[in-house]
Amino acid sequence: MNGLKQNNITILGSGTSTGTPIIGCHCKTCLSDHPYDQRLRASIFLKTKHNHHILVDATPDLRFQLLRQKIFHIDFVIISHEHADHIHGIDDLRQICFKKTDHELEIYCAQFHQTHLVERFPYIFQRDKFFSKNRPILGGGIPILKLKTLDLKDEINQIEIANEPFTFFLLPHNYTKTVCFYHDGLAYLPDCHEITDQVLDFLTLQKPRLLIINCLQKEDHQTHLTVEKSFAYIHKIRPESAGLIHMNHNLSHAELTRLAKENFDFPVFPVYDTQNLTY
Ligand SMILES: [Zn+2]
Ligand SMILES: [Zn+2]
Repeated sequence: MNGLKQNNITILGSGTSTGTPIIGCHCKTCLSDHPYDQRLRASIFLKTKHNHHILVDATPDLRFQLLRQKIFHIDFVIISHEHADHIHGIDDLRQICFKKTDHELEIYCAQFHQTHLVERFPYIFQRDKFFSKNRPILGGGIPILKLKTLDLKDEINQIEIANEPFTFFLLPHNYTKTVCFYHDGLAYLPDCHEITDQVLDFLTLQKPRLLIINCLQKEDHQTHLTVEKSFAYIHKIRPESAGLIHMNHNLSHAELTRLAKENFDFPVFPVYDTQNLTY
């Protein structure tokens, strides 16, 4: 135990798949020099009351995100889904593995996400097939990642990981589903285009201290929550506070802050990279 009275969350990245600024874009948000408009790909880091260090997603920006926050130790990783912006930094977990006594890091995800991970990173997840006596591992080594399956057969799944009380649920997102969760007062819904009725009922009943929810842009979108949808869900769930995440360059921090203030009588705000919150 480290004696933390509250759980701690750090926003490692608050942006959508492109990040902001977008390469080559000259829009107002992309040219903004406000630090909160500089968004790396969406990811969070939890430091819990029980002294567990948990990373959620391994974005293409992972190396810089870990360096920036001075994160050198991770107990386990949760992967929300297989899209590039959530897993393509997975190789950077190498250095975290090297520091561990058993050099092994557990990666929790849904069974159907594992198929994608194995296909995309056979050198990590099918080491025995990929390397052999005649083709040994050379050079800087590879991360030793142990896939752990989250049993998500129900709509709402209570699953303890290392004494941490998680409730996991899948939400529809594009052609896939995203692993979202509730943990001791925090609800994290990074990527989805709707919240199913059962999950909505569950979250409304929990009244999270902090809800972090996808909010891509004002305009309609096939695979993400828009400002309108996101705000409607926040009104329904009525958490103590809500942070908006996974924004694209059509929404500046200033504009989304203003929209949130106009629509809520409790704290609702866009989160920003490096932000620390407790729950
Ligand atoms: Zn732009
Ligand atoms: Zn996605």
